Amino acid sequence: MSVFIDSHAHLDGPDFDTDREQVIERARTAGLTHLICIGASDGFESNERTLALVDGQNGFYATVGIHPHDAQIVDEPMLNTLETMARHPQVVAIGETGLDYYYDQSPREAQRKAFASFMTLAQKVGKPIIVHTRDAEEDTIQLLKDSQADQTGGVLHCFTGTQALADAAIALGFYISFSGIVTFKSAEALREVARNLPRERVLVETDCPYLAPVPKRGKRNEPSFIVHTVNQLANLWQLDPSEVRAITGNNAMRFFHIGDDSPSLTTT
Ligand SMILES: [Zn+2]
Ligand SMILES: [Zn+2]
Repeated sequence: MSVFIDSHAHLDGPDFDTDREQVIERARTAGLTHLICIGASDGFESNERTLALVDGQNGFYATVGIHPHDAQIVDEPMLNTLETMARHPQVVAIGETGLDYYYDQSPREAQRKAFASFMTLAQKVGKPIIVHTRDAEEDTIQLLKDSQADQTGGVLHCFTGTQALADAAIALGFYISFSGIVTFKSAEALREVARNLPRERVLVETDCPYLAPVPKRGKRNEPSFIVHTVNQLANLWQLDPSEVRAITGNNAMRFFHIGDDSPSLTTT
């Protein structure tokens, strides 16, 4: 089966309450076969909404976690609840977690503590970690090294970092995921990183409803818009877009441990 995967979508929030079904139908029409729905959108409740959204739905998978913006709400009882949720068979990763020193919406100490707790949780349940990192390269790499991330496996999602950060992550066995940012006019340095990365370690994502790619920039993002990010990578790698879909799709299947025989969005 040829696979095409949006590895990071936030579909549980109010942005999609009026037309979620149509958004999913457009994803199908665009050829997407699997959607990874991120639970850590906004506080704890988005995990519950995301699990309800994917439960029993062909081609839908989920992650559970708490966004670094909300790191200060993480406590022991919440981690225990998330551990139970993480054992759901359609939960394929923990996160997003990580460090965001650009917005600093939670104190940095709380962000580091929550990140370390989610690394432990990922190891416990045997699922990879989805890492959000902004303006925190050194602390991110240090924390990953200190928590045996090479054994957990993970992805730096919505990558906007330097070649050095990408190299350090790749050395830990991590994947790098590109969002619509790679299409932005100002993102020439990022495109240079994308050009150089080993292709078997690259994923694509929308991070919708945020960060719509050019030519949809400024609009609400949705999974079907991922074709513009794929086209950009195809251009950088001098491949056909169908090859980029297949490469990144197969990478995502391997990364999330999704079996070849698993149902897709088009399985009836
Ligand atoms: Zn993020
Ligand atoms: Zn996200």
